Parts: sequence; C-alpha cells; structure tokens
Amino acid sequence: MLICKNIEVDFDGFKAVNGVDLTLDRGEVHFLIGPNGAGKTTLVDAVTGLAKYSGSVVKDGEELRGKKVHHIARKGIGRTFQTATVFEDLTVAQNLDIAAGAGRSPWALLRRRKHLPANVVETMDRIGLGKEADTPAGILAHGQKQWLEIGMLLVGDADVLLLDEPIAGMGHEERDTTGRLLHDIAADRAVAVVEHDMDFMRAFADRVTVLHAGAVLASGSVDEVSGDPRVQAVYLGT
Ligand code: ADP
Repeated sequence: MLICKNIEVDFDGFKAVNGVDLTLDRGEVHFLIGPNGAGKTTLVDAVTGLAKYSGSVVKDGEELRGKKVHHIARKGIGRTFQTATVFEDLTVAQNLDIAAGAGRSPWALLRRRKHLPANVVETMDRIGLGKEADTPAGILAHGQKQWLEIGMLLVGDADVLLLDEPIAGMGHEERDTTGRLLHDIAADRAVAVVEHDMDFMRAFADRVTVLHAGAVLASGSVDEVSGDPRVQAVYLGT
C-alpha cells in the first residue's frame, strides 16, 4: 500500500534516516523498532510530510515527496502521536464526527450531532467506546484517548496508519485490547507501529523492521528478526 525507497533525512549534515526502504502492506501490523535515536520518528515524519527527505514515498501510484501534510493526510495516511491529540472539550461522538467530516464547517457538524453518521457509530463500537458517546474526551482514561485517536483516523478513511507507541502508559488489559484492535483494523489497511515494548511486539507483530543509526538493520517475521545476530548485538542485548 505504501512503498518507501531510499529515504534520507539530513539535519545539517547528520543523516537521521540514511537510505531506508520500507513497504507497508494491507493486512499487516508492521512494527518499527530500534534503539532511541535510530530514526523511527524521523522516518514517520518524512512519510507524513513533516520532515524533508530525498528518496520516494508512493501510495496508490502517487509520489508523495514534496506534498503538503494535509494532502498526504487526504491520501489516507494517518498518524497518531504518543500524547493523544483529541478535542478534550468535545464528546467522543463529536470528536469522531468532526474527524469524519474534516473539511466541512464545524458548526454544521455540531448541529447534526443527534444524527450521527453510521460510520461514526460503528467506529465507536469498534474502538470499545460505544458506551462513551457523550463522554467529554478530556475525562477519558489515557488508553481510551489513544483508541479515540485511532478511531478518528478510521472515520477519516485513513488506510495507512502510523502509530507512535500506542500502548505507552497502558496496563496489561488495555495493551491486549489495543493489540487486538490493531489486528482488527489491519484486516483491510496497513498498520505501522513505532514501539519500544518487546513483549507487545512479539505478541502482535506480523512483520518487524529494525532500524539502527538511521538504516534498516533487519526486516522480517518476529522469529527471523529476533534470531538475527546483528539485531541481538545492537538491540536486544542477548
Ligand atoms: P527515534 O524515534 O528512533 O528515537 P528520532 O527519529 O527521534 O529517533 O531521531 C533520530 C536522530 O535524529 C537522533 O539522533 C536525533 O537526535 C536526531 N534528530 C531528530 N530530529 C532532529 C532535528 N529536528 N534536528 C536535528 N537532529 C534531529
């Protein structure tokens, strides 16, 4: 769904990302791991148009290098951040409704809150917030905010999701719920997860790409990557 070739991000001569190839496929939860400073966030910044790069990012046959952030988002590439960015004063339903109607007048959206579109209702159930439609997003638990943010990408029709540490700060149960949600939404989308948590990666990754010093050190299944001596040497410490 998304093909990145030879991505390089240069910060004043320092190559934070140095020749990375990455393909994200529909149906896969693809984990991006690597030590701090490996270039994971910068790579996601490049794909979403926040960092300048050389190389190529193609989605649905369109080259996205040089395109504006909002154009890239409209092409279906959605991103979450470690700290969920939701409208705290609006309800769960309103947050989703606004994300579903991005581009329409906010007042029109607020007026029709009693008649939520079917995809908003469906998504609320899917992200486990079906009973929280009228709850202000600001009082949701940390994990629920993360799910809401993912839901906002779903109703906005993102089909490539780039999630930055979606389980940071979550307890065991919430982590498992999040892992299942990722697989559910990856059924007809591509999902990439930047993650530090190795247990979560082992439990839920279909594919893993390990970055080190701005380059791809290894890519493959969890077993392939964990068995790679280079990965063990630089990252897993075993
Ligand atoms: P990761 O997400 O894997 O921890 P980052 O992508 O945040 O790594 O950072 C990769 C490298 O690029 C780090 O050495 C970091 O200090 C550097 N870096 C990130 N952003 C900038 C920037 N805006 N200017 C200069 N260096 C940066």
